[in-house]
Amino acid sequence: MKKRITIAVDGPAASGKSTTARLLAQKLGYLYIDTGAMYRAATLSILNNKINAHDEQAVVKNIEDCQISIKLAEDGQHTYLNNNDVTHLIRTPQINREISVISSYAGVREILVKQQQALAVQGGVIMDGRDIGTVVLPHAKLKVFMIASLEERAKRRLKEFAAQGIKETIESLKSKIQRRDEFDASRSQAPLKKAEDARELDTSKLTIEQQVDLIYNWAKEIIYAE
Ligand code: C5P
Repeated sequence: MKKRITIAVDGPAASGKSTTARLLAQKLGYLYIDTGAMYRAATLSILNNKINAHDEQAVVKNIEDCQISIKLAEDGQHTYLNNNDVTHLIRTPQINREISVISSYAGVREILVKQQQALAVQGGVIMDGRDIGTVVLPHAKLKVFMIASLEERAKRRLKEFAAQGIKETIESLKSKIQRRDEFDASRSQAPLKKAEDARELDTSKLTIEQQVDLIYNWAKEIIYAE
């Protein structure tokens, strides 16, 4: 396809953003950037250094001093903390528990948003997160806000954790996901919110292939209309 646009994908936890955005990027030949992984690496740094997550000053100082980066490899995005590959260490219940507080701090967001914007400068990028359409890439040509029922999202997370050998119950996952979304949506800095010009996509009853095809067709319409 001729023009390389920028696509923003936002939505609550476990709404299918990452899987969909990754497959869509493959189909379009675009780069996929998972911004949640960067906040996860920041949270890992805070946990590793035993910093109190509620001490905003100490948290921001630590994130200023550490190095968070991503590299795109054949098997997808790898996330690095101080040059160590932490891709698989950042998807744990402990990180999920602390992450909303860490990512609510303006000082932390400022550092990561700058990096994210620099990664998207060339176009040909699909970025997912909570504030991509509203703050990081407000001029993205296509914005998608993905939602799914709480039940469906908890089932998806349960599967992911089971594959990692982590035991959780559906009820506990439902309440944790709900708590994280409420926190993300009510924070003052770049809250989880649908951009006014975003298209909402409810994935509760869709297969991954259907989700990818739907967004792919939206992207094609925009690219050919340019
Ligand atoms: O997408 P993922 O579930 O990995 O995001 C984890 C957490 O990182 C979110 O619950 C949110 O607190 C934070 N986040 C954010 N802004 C983004 C991406 C993630 O605040 N752009």
